[in-house]
Amino acid sequence: MSSNLRINGDRLWSTLMEQATIGRTEKGGLRRLALSQEDGAVRDLFCRWCEDAGLTIAIDGIGNIFATRPGTDPHAKPILMGSHLDTQIHGGRFDGILGVLGPLEVIRTLNERGITTKHPLTIVNWTNEEGARFEPPMIGSKVFCNLHAIEDALNIRDKDGIRFGDALHTIGYSGRSALSPEQCDSYFELHIEQGPELEESGLQVGIVTGAFDVRWAVVEIRGESAHSGTTRMADRRNAIVGAAAVIECVNEIGLVYASSGGRSTTARLTIEPNLLGILSHRVEALCDFRHPEKGVPQKMFESFQARLPELIARTQCDMSIIKDWQYGAVDYNADLAALSRTAADRLGYSHRDMLTVAGHDSMYIAGVMPATMIFTPCEKGISHNEAENVTLADIEPGTNVLLHAVLARDAQT
Ligand SMILES: [Zn+2]
Repeated sequence: MSSNLRINGDRLWSTLMEQATIGRTEKGGLRRLALSQEDGAVRDLFCRWCEDAGLTIAIDGIGNIFATRPGTDPHAKPILMGSHLDTQIHGGRFDGILGVLGPLEVIRTLNERGITTKHPLTIVNWTNEEGARFEPPMIGSKVFCNLHAIEDALNIRDKDGIRFGDALHTIGYSGRSALSPEQCDSYFELHIEQGPELEESGLQVGIVTGAFDVRWAVVEIRGESAHSGTTRMADRRNAIVGAAAVIECVNEIGLVYASSGGRSTTARLTIEPNLLGILSHRVEALCDFRHPEKGVPQKMFESFQARLPELIARTQCDMSIIKDWQYGAVDYNADLAALSRTAADRLGYSHRDMLTVAGHDSMYIAGVMPATMIFTPCEKGISHNEAENVTLADIEPGTNVLLHAVLARDAQT
C-alpha cells in the first residue's frame, strides 16, 4: 500500500467544525449530553455523513451506532474504529468526537482512492461515554462487552428522573441489533491526549500501550445538623469540616506519589442538607487514586484508610468508606500498537509510547477483542473544558496513523 496515502486534512477539519455547531456554548465549547436533543442531532448528522459515504448503519439496544463499509472477504470480521459524540456539561469540541469523525475521514479517503479492504470497516459511536447525564460513564461500551445488563442500563435515571431508555427512544436511537464482540476483529480508538505530555515534548503521535490503574472510593462523612449561629464551636460536628479534612488528606497522598506519576482527587461532594445557616449532617466525597504502575493506587487507597481514625478524631465526624472499586490497569494489544508505531515511522511522524490516564471505551473493549488507542496532542492538555483545543496539525498525523494501521491490520489477518 502506498505510503503516499494521506487523509484529507481540510475535509476532516471542516467536518469537525460542522459538528461543533450542534450544542455549541457561548464560550465556544460543546454541551451535548448523552441522549439529549443535541446528541440526537449530531447522531443524525453523523448517520447522514456515513450513508453518503456508502456505509450501512446498525444500532443496538443501548443506542451504540455501528456504520459499516463492507469488505471483500465474506468471512473476515469487521475492524472497528470508534469513540463518542457526547460531551461533558462544559465540554470541548474534540474529546471523543475525533475518534468518530477521524474514522469517517479514513473511510472517505479509501472511497476516494478506490481502496477496498478484506475486512469490513466499522465506525462506532458509543452511547454515554462521558456519564455527565447518566451514570456510570461508558455505559454503551460496557453493555456491548456484557459487563452491564442492558435492562439495568435502560432503567438508569438522570437528575430530572428521566429514564435512560425513554431518552434513547425519544431521540430515535433505540435499536434492535448490531454487532456483538465475538463478531469483531479488533478495535482502534483515536483520541486527543487530554494531557500535556505530547505537546510539551513536541511529539506528534502517542501510541497508547495501556491504561493507568485507578482506585475509586466513596467516603461517607457523618456529622450532626445544627444551627450555625447558636451552636458553640466546641459542640459542633459539621460534616463539611470532616469533608475538608478528607479532601486535604487525599490531596496529600497524591503529592507523596506525584514524582512517580501518581495523582489523587476528590472530584465530587454531595452535601446534606447544604443549606444556609445549617451545619451539614452528611457529606459523600467521591475520591480517586491513580498511578501508572499496577497496584500502587491500592497502596494509596490503603494509606488513606489508615489516616481515617486521625481525621475522625480531629473533626468529630464519623467517616467510613461506603463504596470502592478498581478500574483501568488495562494492557492494550501489543500487535496493534506495533502497527501504529510502524505506521508513524513510515509516515515520518515523531511518537512515543504512553499510557492513558483518562477512562475510555477502549478499556472495556480491550477485554473482548484486540484493542489499541492512538493519541494526538491537544493544547496545554486541556479537556473536559470549553477551552479544549487542537489544530489540524495536531490531529492530522494521528488520523493518518489510524488509516495506515487499520490497512496494515487488514492486510495481516
Ligand atoms: Zn473521550
